[in-house]
Amino acid sequence: MRLTVNGIVQGVGFRPFVYQLALESGLKGGVANTSSGVTIHVEATEKKIQAFILDLRKKSPPLAHITEITAGYEVIRGYTTFTIQGSQRQPSRWALISPDMAICNDCLQELFDPEDRRYGYPFINCTNCGPRYTIIEDIPYDRPNTSMKHFTMCEKCQKEYDDPSNRRFHAQPNACAVCGPSLALYSNDRARILAHDPIKKTAELLKEGQIVAIKGLGGFHLAVDAENTNAVIRLRQRKHREEKPLALMSYDLDRVHRYALVEPDEERLLTSQQRPIVLVKKRDTNPLSPEISPRNKNFGVMLPYTPLHYLLLSHDFTSLVMTSGNMSEEPIAIDNDEAFDRLGAIADYFLVHNREIYLRSDDSIARRTQGATRFIRRSRGYVPAPVFLRDKVPQILACGAELKNTVCITKGKNAFLSQHIGDLENLETYRFFEQTVDHMKQILDIDPQILAHDLHPDYLSTRYALEQEGMEKIAVQHHHAHIVSCMAENGLDGPVLGLSFDGTGYGTDGSIWGGEVLIVETHHFSRAAHLTSVPMPGGDGAIREPWRMAVSYLSHVFGEGFYDLELPFLGSIEKDRIRIIQTMISNKVNAPPTSSLGRLFDGIAAIVGIRNQVAYEGQAAMELEMTIAGDSKESYDYEWKREKDAYRVLVSSIIRGVVRDMEKGSQVSEISQKFHTTLIRLFSDLCGRIGQETGLDRAVLSGGVFQNAVLLAGLTKALEASGFQVFSHSVIPTNDGGISLGQALVAAAVAAS
Ligand code: ZN
Ligand code: ZN
Ligand code: FE
Repeated sequence: MRLTVNGIVQGVGFRPFVYQLALESGLKGGVANTSSGVTIHVEATEKKIQAFILDLRKKSPPLAHITEITAGYEVIRGYTTFTIQGSQRQPSRWALISPDMAICNDCLQELFDPEDRRYGYPFINCTNCGPRYTIIEDIPYDRPNTSMKHFTMCEKCQKEYDDPSNRRFHAQPNACAVCGPSLALYSNDRARILAHDPIKKTAELLKEGQIVAIKGLGGFHLAVDAENTNAVIRLRQRKHREEKPLALMSYDLDRVHRYALVEPDEERLLTSQQRPIVLVKKRDTNPLSPEISPRNKNFGVMLPYTPLHYLLLSHDFTSLVMTSGNMSEEPIAIDNDEAFDRLGAIADYFLVHNREIYLRSDDSIARRTQGATRFIRRSRGYVPAPVFLRDKVPQILACGAELKNTVCITKGKNAFLSQHIGDLENLETYRFFEQTVDHMKQILDIDPQILAHDLHPDYLSTRYALEQEGMEKIAVQHHHAHIVSCMAENGLDGPVLGLSFDGTGYGTDGSIWGGEVLIVETHHFSRAAHLTSVPMPGGDGAIREPWRMAVSYLSHVFGEGFYDLELPFLGSIEKDRIRIIQTMISNKVNAPPTSSLGRLFDGIAAIVGIRNQVAYEGQAAMELEMTIAGDSKESYDYEWKREKDAYRVLVSSIIRGVVRDMEKGSQVSEISQKFHTTLIRLFSDLCGRIGQETGLDRAVLSGGVFQNAVLLAGLTKALEASGFQVFSHSVIPTNDGGISLGQALVAAAVAAS
């Protein structure tokens, strides 16, 4: 028979695996790489071949991902052995490229084995682990097309590379201390620090409280000792990162247990070969600096994923802060010179190496909610593994939104989401966006003729799309794209009821949406319900200063009289500033209307006194969620009004209820609980009503607000209780980092109609 295996099957040790398996099963024939995967010619009884096919799927190497095996009869050629054909390497242009993967156990064992020739070598890898996506310059995936081309393998490494029975057979980044990349330590004035063991020296510097920029897999990290509060504060000040939680890295789970409470499913995610940052619950008393994630119940933790990390953390740290090597809001640094330029004012020392990173890739961030993995950022370890689609689509480039931008390129049944690009608000990030688009087109060998972009005319991603010549361009409404992205990963066809709860997004009426219940088909949507629109005084200024939203909601409900309410937050803001905002609202100057649920969260957070300003988008809403305590079953009154073609959800009774509780002196924790319960009851009731009217019984949840675990879990349960089948994200982020997938599929459907 002739078997064709598709998926991620090249550069991951697949042919040696097939070879070994065939030998064990006593099969004759051969295996070869072809243009789209791997083909196997086997000669044996049908029963034996069927067992072999099962084993191919069951036992395949860790980095392989089989999407399809097709089988057909062949003419018997009378093989007497089983061979790996084309050992002169004919890697294909079409094969899927593996993401970068954490060091495997075999390599880890060798790393700490004094007898091994790679003992303590920080760049050890094999076909089952190591860098991939970040070192590829071009396809086919072959050493001359990677940043390993500058290193010629020594005799021993070459022998491993050529030996089909070796774990390093065709491992493109194969290297050792004799022939491969090496480390160097510098002070921030670029003076080389000579140390017999640069890693040990780095560990000493970190213990002294120094900030060290460390070159990793997808970019630089900035590291400090997580137990040293002074160092953490200094890092925050220099990086201009005031409040956002900092990521941690610990040597193993035992150390993580010292400061966090980790559930078994979180442990599995932490130890997975993708090694994302996982949000885990803080221990009430823990040895780490309180400055790492202030006002947050969680830590973001990862385990080491490169041999360099393992060697460094073996020097007895409970944990290191490992935050991305950038100035706030800029892309992460990847090049040594670039790092000295951009990080020189932050880091005291630089631990660098000479294996170039071609494409930056930030750490992925995920959490476990309701038995599923929820991505906050899908990047290193997952990219460029495709999201597998149910149906074939044409080649499309979707440009994403503005914040947390990713792009998506489709081909056949594959949707390739890019790594996290960032907030498209500065030139550096925009350049990275362009570079990523070009790079992905190159290494995936895709030349899209259709461009999908957000409806917002001012997003840089929209402008990029409109500037491209000779392509079909399709504008996609933001919340439509959110829901379709979730339909795509769940393999759903419309129509469905889509709950798109979000911060911002340009609506078809030019106002800002974000509290939307939509009836969604892939090619089309309509609005079934939405929150009442209120002015957003100062536009984006209202996102940075949630107190403005508080003023907007209060004057919406109470008119001018709101100023007499006994709300402490009003006293914390100068009267003049409040008056200016009021004028903007009443004169409708620079105060675009918004139906965003994210802004309602912000407004409530400010009214209850959590904060007037935020250091990053969504902070106030997140802190409101974090304050929840107790198990009150109470909620506020809610109501909606039937208008011409949609329901309008009134916010006044909710605001009134919150204000009444504040004046009564209720605990913020209780108000927050009641507010969440209200939203859950309100929307499950309302969807129940719409479901009856439309006959729809599938609800799809997407949008940044669903990063709120209380809302996601509560609403899922309540909708299920009202008879809905409920779908949410577990493959891509629910925030704008996943929206490009939805854009691509909407464009595919529109182009086909
Ligand atoms: Zn390995
Ligand atoms: Zn070597
Ligand atoms: Fe969004």
